[in-house]
Amino acid sequence: MCGIVGYIGTKKACPILINGLIRLEYRGYDSAGISTIEKDGISVMKDKGRVKNLYNLKGIDDLEGSIGIAHTRWATHGKPSKENAHPHLDNSRTFSVVHNGIIENYNELKKFLSDNGYKFLSQTDTEIIPNLVHYYYSKDKKDSSSASIDKKDSSLSSTDKEDSSLKKGDCLRFLRAVKRACDDLKGSFAIEILCKDYPDNMIVVRKDSPLVIGKGDGENYIASDIPAILSFTKNFYFLNDLEFAVLSRDDIKFYDDNLQLIEKATKSIDWDASSSEKNGFDDFMLKEIYEQPNSIRETIGAKFSEDSDCEFDELNFSKDYLKGLDKIFIVACGTAMHAGLTGKNAFEKLCKIPTEVDVASEFRYRSPLVDDKSLCIFISQSGETADTIAALKLCKEKGAKTLAISNVIGSSITREADYSIYTHAGPEIAVASTKAYTSQVVLIVILAIYFAEILGLSSAEIVNLKRDILELPKKIEETLKCSEQVKEFAKRVYQEKDIFFLGRGVDEVVAKEGSLKLKEISYIHSESYPAGELKHGPIALIENGVTVVGIMTVPELVKKTVSNLQEVITRGAKTLVITNQDIDKSMFDMVIEIPNTNTFVSPVLSIIPLQLFSYYIAKEKGLDVDKPRNLAKSVTVE
Ligand code: GLU
Repeated sequence: MCGIVGYIGTKKACPILINGLIRLEYRGYDSAGISTIEKDGISVMKDKGRVKNLYNLKGIDDLEGSIGIAHTRWATHGKPSKENAHPHLDNSRTFSVVHNGIIENYNELKKFLSDNGYKFLSQTDTEIIPNLVHYYYSKDKKDSSSASIDKKDSSLSSTDKEDSSLKKGDCLRFLRAVKRACDDLKGSFAIEILCKDYPDNMIVVRKDSPLVIGKGDGENYIASDIPAILSFTKNFYFLNDLEFAVLSRDDIKFYDDNLQLIEKATKSIDWDASSSEKNGFDDFMLKEIYEQPNSIRETIGAKFSEDSDCEFDELNFSKDYLKGLDKIFIVACGTAMHAGLTGKNAFEKLCKIPTEVDVASEFRYRSPLVDDKSLCIFISQSGETADTIAALKLCKEKGAKTLAISNVIGSSITREADYSIYTHAGPEIAVASTKAYTSQVVLIVILAIYFAEILGLSSAEIVNLKRDILELPKKIEETLKCSEQVKEFAKRVYQEKDIFFLGRGVDEVVAKEGSLKLKEISYIHSESYPAGELKHGPIALIENGVTVVGIMTVPELVKKTVSNLQEVITRGAKTLVITNQDIDKSMFDMVIEIPNTNTFVSPVLSIIPLQLFSYYIAKEKGLDVDKPRNLAKSVTVE
């Protein structure tokens, strides 16, 4: 969940590393550190708090090294502190490591290393890694000297198989020690590692944690996420689980789990580097809210026109296969799960396929009835969400076909899934998702149309829906004009303790997402309910000073939600209503009118005032909207 950056080239590494960390701070931000190889050995500088604190560290400006690794931490083991911040060194200061993920068997390994004389300075799971590498590194040295005396020894000396591919100068000992340490690690990791004895090389490896390698000219970069290094290169390599990369300035060599050399091709990423800048907006979140007309336009792309059927270049589902499906499962976490709920509505109504939506962390452990008659769809903006990836692996084991929806080409989930389709939202930096969510909603509805057309279920309703989808970018622009009105209401209620969100049908899904957005960035307690459920309990909480937000875009359900809101008004609640229906506005404190559209995609419009509502409340409270407390953008641990 943290961010890691690496650089090897001819420039000073330190400013490049800190700059990269700042761009990755949304991933985790309780402490940060960098390590470079200097003339007199490995240097480590780290501190608690934000990345910018690194600039104040004594001696940071004197770092000359042109190879280095860096980390911004989101603590899993050991409190946020200077000692627990990465990078971590081994006892002999030969290896420096940054790590993203969790080492599940660290207690066992720590005991093993302690029994072998290693001391630990932090409470992290990570600190065992440099020491374990050191253990194998020294053992290898001992073994190879004794191997020349006694050739029969030992499991740790280099095997013939490895030697055939590892040539001299390929950091054989360093790489072998890293590989052996990785063999012992259980859990998830993306690791960058420096070795004092190899000042011109860096090794990286990953398993179930994100890491990309950017190829430059005479220099190479590492990052957890593409935007961090997008201003340096657009050519990226992606590692699969347990593949190793040995970086030098002019070259990158890749090895598989048996340390056999493998070939990899770069993938070129067409994101604009300026899309990861604020471009005049106060915050990334606001910028990303305003980018939605374009992110939706890009996501629709050329998948269909008013009079042509939907097409996905990446998919080839047959009518027989879709007809044979018993069920679609949509699995995701947080906001992406809310996008999945709009997908359920579309698959069931347009394709007549029963659809279940699950939270990934629950799905994995509830023995889901998945088999080869199930299609399992996974939604993850980053494509690195640990729970969602684990759920996908489970479905594959059970024989189902898997389809990933992600915003990041080459991300882990897209490499695991049988099929992948992409939202084209561009990089989303703010922790609270906005444009990625609306792109997911649109894409999953287009997917449902695509299935319906293959199944021969095209209808006048689908023709209208397609026209409405094509009009969404323009209607989002119109919706964004509500900004001042929303800001005014936010100023009235930002000090409140409880805000409820109510809706029916797809509006209830929007209520869920609106409530989550508010919690995430304003820290106000908030809940969402199907409006009709109110009377079954939650209405007991309504009193003077409580705010209730009602969403009403489903024509046949509007009257019912109005009645439910009437009930809360009677009990003293202030009300904000988001609607595209003709209602009596006089009874509500504020009504935000949004353009009319098809209910399958109305969440794309009705969520916008709620994104702005959360944003302005958080601003009124003086909070950091892009980096809310305790949260990280991509949750790469369970
Ligand atoms: N488990 C490691 C720690 O707590 C790494 C956490 C992270 O990914 O930031 O230090």
